Amino acid sequence: MKDYKKQNQKNSRCEVSRKCGGCQNIDVPYKEQLAKKQRRVGGLLKGFGKVRPIIGMDQPLHYRNKVHAVFDFQKGRGIVSGIYQERTHNVIPVDGCLLEDEKADQIILSIRSLAKSFKIKTYDEDTGYGLLRHVLVRVGHATGQIMVVLVLGSPIFPSKKNFVSELCKLHPEITTIVVNVNNRRTSMVLGDKEQVIYGKGYIEDILCGRTFKISPKSFYQVNAVQTEILYQKAVEYARLTGKETVVDAYCGIGTIALTAAGQAGKVIGVELNRDAVRDAVANARVNQVKNVDFYQNDAGRFMRQLAEAQEKVDVVFLDPPRSGSTEEFMDALLCLRPARVVYISCNPETLARDLGYLTSKKQYRVEEITPVDMFPFTDNIEVCAALSGRK
Ligand code: SAH
Repeated sequence: MKDYKKQNQKNSRCEVSRKCGGCQNIDVPYKEQLAKKQRRVGGLLKGFGKVRPIIGMDQPLHYRNKVHAVFDFQKGRGIVSGIYQERTHNVIPVDGCLLEDEKADQIILSIRSLAKSFKIKTYDEDTGYGLLRHVLVRVGHATGQIMVVLVLGSPIFPSKKNFVSELCKLHPEITTIVVNVNNRRTSMVLGDKEQVIYGKGYIEDILCGRTFKISPKSFYQVNAVQTEILYQKAVEYARLTGKETVVDAYCGIGTIALTAAGQAGKVIGVELNRDAVRDAVANARVNQVKNVDFYQNDAGRFMRQLAEAQEKVDVVFLDPPRSGSTEEFMDALLCLRPARVVYISCNPETLARDLGYLTSKKQYRVEEITPVDMFPFTDNIEVCAALSGRK
């Protein structure tokens, strides 16, 4: 393969790709990216079961529905917005990104120029002075609803009303604007305090026929097109008949649980983050799904409690963070012995480790593995694996 890394910045299709680090393969043809991911997943997982061809995107650009920009003041340039240079706090000005939603990028540019005309000072990380720190834009792929989160260093926002009305005049597609106050010297983007200054304070999106409420802080997959494909694959792997008791572990705002609920007897979701559980409960209500219960708990502990109570569970979905699952979780799973397990993973290394653990006791075998390209132009891979219990 050609060494695209060595390609001159001038010849790159993105002028900041060397400094940003957000996408490692911006100049690699898409087909080649998919082949590379297929080889990586195959190398790690083919010993467990059949690895199907990776599902790529027809149009792999501008897929990110969540866009973040950091604001800064630079001598000679004035107010800039962009990204942190990889592993530093230097801000690289960016006008647009090939992976991000184009409307979101335009909104960020408008905020940059409004900040100039309103003479809003950007926040200085060294001194703690100034107001505007970050802007976060989230777009509902199917609904077109747009949320703008203005992260400010102080709750006092002079000329707030005029700013909002000018921004909405430029972008009538914005449905809500939230101020998030972060006055700590931290690299975390969002602070604790929130104030809705326009609209409802959240957006909705539609996935697999269900409506999902998304709050500023809830986890939501960044690529809606591929998420739908991933969840359909996961539910297909579960082979539900309408009678099963299903667990959705690490369930976030309940996306997989609610997608599967129509084809199951009942679904139990478990998630650690309180805001996400609250969204999940609201999402069940909005979609009038009655056979789902959500619990706020550590997934491993919750599974152990189910095992100790000798609950009957037929199918378990698990979608853990990059670090993978835990032995506590998997021991409980081996004790509960559901007929099928569907493991969704954003890290094939920890998936390989966990599949090794689950299959080592000869209770389960891996039927099939499908990689889904959720993150074109980056090295990240999403994988869905179907396991079934041995008789
Ligand atoms: N299935 C969801 C979320 C997947 S992301 C979706 O596709 O949208 C992983 C989720 O695991 C996050 O929501 C995170 O808050 C949650 N999580 C992390 N550690 C956890 C733990 N120990 N127990 C339960 N949930 C956990």
